[in-house]
Amino acid sequence: MIATEAALALDAQAELGEGPMWDPRVGCLYFVDILRGRVHRFDPVPEQVRSYDVGRMVGAVALTESDDLILAVQDGFARLDTRTGAVHTVATLDAAQPDLRFNDGKCDPAGRLWAGTMALDERRGAGAVYRLDPGGRIHRIFGDVTISNGLDWSDDCATMYYIDSPTRTIDVFDFDLSSGAVGNRRPFVRIPRDEGVPDGMTLDAEGYLWVALWGGGAVHRYAPDGRRATVIRVPTRYPTSCAFGGADLGDLYITTAHVKLTPQERVEQPQAGGVFVVRPGPKGRPTNRFGCGAGLQPCDRDPQP
Ligand code: CA
Repeated sequence: MIATEAALALDAQAELGEGPMWDPRVGCLYFVDILRGRVHRFDPVPEQVRSYDVGRMVGAVALTESDDLILAVQDGFARLDTRTGAVHTVATLDAAQPDLRFNDGKCDPAGRLWAGTMALDERRGAGAVYRLDPGGRIHRIFGDVTISNGLDWSDDCATMYYIDSPTRTIDVFDFDLSSGAVGNRRPFVRIPRDEGVPDGMTLDAEGYLWVALWGGGAVHRYAPDGRRATVIRVPTRYPTSCAFGGADLGDLYITTAHVKLTPQERVEQPQAGGVFVVRPGPKGRPTNRFGCGAGLQPCDRDPQP
C-alpha cells in the first residue's frame, strides 16, 4: 500500500472548508467555507485568491457553461456572477425549514445538480437528497438522510456513489442517465470506526474512489471492488472533501476544517482549514457543468489534457 502526505497549498483558515471544484478552462479551484457563507477562488499559478460573500450558508458550488457558478445555499439554489459577485436565487425548496441547510453537492454527467441537506443540529434522518434540473425545477429524490455528503458517477453513467456520513458507509445506486432516477441502493465500502467518517469524494480516471475521512486525518483511495488501495495522510484531523485539478488533472486538492478542533488542537494543527495538495499518481476527470446536458446526453467534457 502506498502512503503519501499532502502538503499545504493555501493557508485558507476556513472554518468549514468544503466542496473543492476545479475549473479547467480558467485553471482555478473553487471551494466554499460553509458556515461563513463564502465561496473562494484559488488560482495556484500565479497564486491568487478571490473571495465572494454569499450572505448565507453555502454548501456546494457547481460550474456552468458561463462565468457564473450555481450554489447550493441554505434553503435552495442560487447563481453567483463571478465578475460582479452578485448572487441571485434560482430555486427555493417548497418546504424550506430554517433549521436545515444544504451540504455537499455535484453535477451529474447530464448537467443536473444533486445536493443533500442536513439539520443544523445533525439530528438523525432530517435531511434529503435533491436534484436541480437545468430548467430550474427541484426534485426530492430520497429522504431519511442525516449528513448528506459525497456524490459522484461512474464513467459509464450506470452507477451513482453516495455518502450519508453517520452511516460510515459509501453506498452505490443504479443510475439512469436519461431520467436521472436512482435505485437499488447498497453498501460499497464500510469505514471502520477508528478511521473517521466518510465525507466528500471524487472518482479518478481509473474508476477508483477518493474519499476524505472526517476525523481521520486522511484521504483513502478505494478500488472498484472496494479494496483500499492508497492512504494519503493530511496533517490535520478534519479533511472534508477532495477534487483533482491542475493543468494535467494530476493534483489532488483536499479541503479541511478547523470548526471541531479544541483550542489546544488548533495550536497543534495551525494549518487546519487550509487547502492541501498531493500528486498521488492517478489523474482526475474533468468536472461536470450545470446545464450542459441538453438532450440528456453526457456532457461534452473539456478535452483531456
Ligand atoms: Ca462535507
